[in-house]
Amino acid sequence: MTNIEVFCEKCKTIANTTQLWCEKCKELNKVQPIEACSYSNYELSTMWSLNDFLPQFSKIMTLSEGNTPCTKISRDKPIKDLILKLEFRNPTGSFRDRAASVIVSDALNKKQKKIVGASTGSFNISLAAYSAKAGIKSTNILPLNLDLSKKEQIQLYGGEVKEIGETVEEAVEFASEYSRTTSSYLATPESNILTIEGQKTIALELVIQKKEISSIIVPKGSGTLILSIFRGYEDAIKSGWIEDIPSIYAVSLKKTHVSHFAESLESKPSKLHEEVKKILVQTKGKDIEIDASVMIDKAMKLAKNEGLFIEPASASVIAAAHQLVETEQINVSRTVGILTGTGINALNIFASQLRGHQKAVWGLSQSSTTKFEILNFIANNKANYGISIWNSLGKSPTKQSIYQHLNQLEKKGLISVIEPKMKQKKYKITRKGLETIERMRALIDYV
Ligand SMILES: [Zn+2]
Repeated sequence: MTNIEVFCEKCKTIANTTQLWCEKCKELNKVQPIEACSYSNYELSTMWSLNDFLPQFSKIMTLSEGNTPCTKISRDKPIKDLILKLEFRNPTGSFRDRAASVIVSDALNKKQKKIVGASTGSFNISLAAYSAKAGIKSTNILPLNLDLSKKEQIQLYGGEVKEIGETVEEAVEFASEYSRTTSSYLATPESNILTIEGQKTIALELVIQKKEISSIIVPKGSGTLILSIFRGYEDAIKSGWIEDIPSIYAVSLKKTHVSHFAESLESKPSKLHEEVKKILVQTKGKDIEIDASVMIDKAMKLAKNEGLFIEPASASVIAAAHQLVETEQINVSRTVGILTGTGINALNIFASQLRGHQKAVWGLSQSSTTKFEILNFIANNKANYGISIWNSLGKSPTKQSIYQHLNQLEKKGLISVIEPKMKQKKYKITRKGLETIERMRALIDYV
């Protein structure tokens, strides 16, 4: 790694590691914008076609990531011609492959035998795949309650999975500690600046693919993707490719209820979010909040109408585009939405939506089956009131028995009442309720 200098803007310390945070003053480390030749000299085949902007390694670990195509919305009228960058076309189905490619290359060149990282899943799928190719042992720290297909994909690539904590923050902390005690290379996206350097190639590719972009819609998550895109545009400006950075819109979920649709959108406000705020102000963008239930609906419509199967967190971008067309009057044909990850990573969520409600679950009494259905309705925010649950179940069994089930579920701590003062009780799922659903799903054979 020779051409990239990591330094702290605040205390001017030059880091001799790939840490995202300054060891001395704990502020964000930076990399000086890189100046390269004209964009017309670059013919894209993979992300590494842009290697003038990337760290230099003697050996690169690649699965042909990057150079993802752009397409346009054709059938969703209000946002027709919205440009979509298909990041889910990367080797393991998410933009995280760009980060993992650079990080695993770095680990390989430093002759590391073990690598550890924490995330809400997609990054660790990438990490496990690239580590597999590099012959490095990967340990993947995930919070509990993730979609099962994520965990299984990591294991398929030979990665070890440890489920720690209820939030990704707890998993991230454990991964740092684990890397110290086991001398493993720390790959967590929020800890390693090479995440940003790899993911920034999305912006550089966009400049080469689409010159006339005025805004860009990005899932907020922990903030690393927005940081990365901004970083890419800094390099593009330094190299004379463009004059201004497009307005960046950061999409997150409304904090009204618990949902497990998009773990990667639910991270608590982090220190990175302060940095994101500055970027939004500087680029004249803004924060956009959307409903979890709208998001899953948009994901299913995108598959049905446009043939694109993406995970709920990515569909947040489509929901945000609809909102922006109304409120900000963005020029849709000059706006890009980044579709970050494949629907395969959230297969269980889509499967439960398609199945609708289950009339008989193998091995359960009718009464337990109804409780399980009710839990699923509440967890998916499909119905949160007794009456709407009764309607969703096709008015069978009786209304009274639905209220009995709700009381019993509440007593068991699987659901709780959100607005107790309202005449109608509104229910939300508890953490314990979500865990129960996940355990049930692991056991049940659907027919
Ligand atoms: Zn510092």
